[in-house]
Amino acid sequence: MKLCTAIVFFVSFITCYSCKKETYQLPYDQSPIDLNESLTLKKSQLGNITLTAKPFYFSILDNGYTVSLADTASIENRNTLTFNGQLFTYEQTHFHIHSEHYLNSVFFPMELHNVYIDETNGAILVLAIFVDINGTSNKQLDTMARNFPNVKGQPVMTQSLFTLNNILPTDTSDYFSYTGSLTTPPYTGNVTWVVYKKPLETTSGQLDTFTRKYAANFRPLQEIGNRVVFERIVD
Ligand SMILES: [Zn+2]
Repeated sequence: MKLCTAIVFFVSFITCYSCKKETYQLPYDQSPIDLNESLTLKKSQLGNITLTAKPFYFSILDNGYTVSLADTASIENRNTLTFNGQLFTYEQTHFHIHSEHYLNSVFFPMELHNVYIDETNGAILVLAIFVDINGTSNKQLDTMARNFPNVKGQPVMTQSLFTLNNILPTDTSDYFSYTGSLTTPPYTGNVTWVVYKKPLETTSGQLDTFTRKYAANFRPLQEIGNRVVFERIVD
C-alpha cells in the first residue's frame, strides 16, 4: 500500500468513527420519554414551581403540525414560571395527540405543552400536562378550540382571554423533571422538562374537537440513556 493511500484510509477511519459517535450520542438527550416510576429518583424536595396566571389575550397559529396559542403582551407583561430559582417567561401553548410522554409505559389521549423561555440566556422549559377524558368539558380548552384558525401558517389575533391556571391538573403536587429536547425540529437539547403526574381531565367529546384538527402529531419515545429522571413526591 502506498503511503498516501494509507493516510487516506487512516483519515477516513477517524472521520467515520467520530461521525458514528455523534449519531450514537444524539438520542440520549432527546424527548419524549417513558416516565417509569420504577426507575425515577424520588425526592420530596425537588424545588417548587411558582406560576403566575393572569389572563391574557392570545394569538393562535396552525403551523401544519399543531395549533399553538401565544400571549400577545410584551415580554415584561407576560406570565412567568420560576423553577429552582430560575425565572422563565411564558411563550406559547400547543397540543399533541396522543401524549408524547408515557407514564409507566402507558400514553394519555392528549398532552399540552406550555413553553417558557429564560430571557437572560435563552434556556427553554416545557411544562407538560397529560389530558385524560374522565372529567367534564374544560372551558379554557373550549376557548382554544373555538378559535382554531381555518388557514395554516398565519397567526390570528383573537378577542378571547386565556388563563393558564385553567388548564392545569387539579392536583399538581407530584411531577417529573428531566433534561431533554424539543420534540419537533430542530430537536434543540438542554430543555428542562416538568411533567405533572396527574392529568387534566376533560371529556371524549372535547378531545374530538382537537383530534379533528390533528390526530397523530406526537414524536415517538426516545431512549433515556444515562439520564436521571426525578420525581417529586409528597411526604
Ligand atoms: Zn410540544
